[in-house]
Amino acid sequence: MLWILSSLFFAWCAFREIRSSIVAPPGFDLPTPVSKPYLALVVSLAVILAWPPVHTWRFQRFLSAKATELADGHPAKVHCNTVFDTMLDPEMLAAGHANPDSGEIALQHPWCGTLMSYLRHPERASEKELQSLDMFTHESMHIRGERNEALTECEAVQRNYRAAKLLGVPDATAKQNAVDYYTGYYQLRAKIGGMQSAYYSDQCAPGKAMDEQLSDSTWTTP
Ligand SMILES: [Zn+2]
Repeated sequence: MLWILSSLFFAWCAFREIRSSIVAPPGFDLPTPVSKPYLALVVSLAVILAWPPVHTWRFQRFLSAKATELADGHPAKVHCNTVFDTMLDPEMLAAGHANPDSGEIALQHPWCGTLMSYLRHPERASEKELQSLDMFTHESMHIRGERNEALTECEAVQRNYRAAKLLGVPDATAKQNAVDYYTGYYQLRAKIGGMQSAYYSDQCAPGKAMDEQLSDSTWTTP
C-alpha cells in the first residue's frame, strides 16, 4: 500500500509538471516549459515504486492459477501477506492458511519471498525454500477439500514433485527437491513432536495407507 501511495505521489508530480507546460500555472501568464531532468526523475521514481506491488500481484496470479491446478480445478486465490497483513491476521502464527470454502490461501510474510527465491535457484534450494514449496502445495490441498492436517500434508508430500514442475522447476530438480522434503523436514516433524506431529503420519509412505498411488508421485521411481 505504501509503495502504491508513494508511486502515485510521484506520478502526480509528473502530471503537474506536464500540465504546467500546457496550461499556465496560477500567477504565470504563460505555460512554463517542462524540466526534462525533473520529469525523468519523478517518472522513474513512480515506475520503480510501482514495481514491488505489481511484481507481487503477478506472482499471486501465477500462484493462484497453479494452486487451482493442484487442487484439481477447485478455484484458489493466493494472497501474499505483507508485514502489516501478517500482524493483523488472526492466524498470524500459522505460516500459511487456507479456507476450503472460499478458496482463499494466505501466505504470511516473508514466505512468498522465500518461494520466489526457491524458484530462482531450485537446484540449490535451502531447507526453508523447500518448506515454502511444501506450504504452497499443502494449502492447495486444503482448497482441494481436505481439512485433516496429517492427510493434507501427506497429499502435499506426494504432489510436491508435480507442484515444483508446475511452478517451472526442471524435472530432475523438482523430483530431488520433493524427495529431499519428504526424507528431510517431513520425517523431522515426527521427531519434533508437539504441534508438528499433527502434520505427520507413519502411514504417509510408499505402499502405506495414505499412498494415493499417483502416477507422478514424489516417491514413484520413474
Ligand atoms: Zn494445513
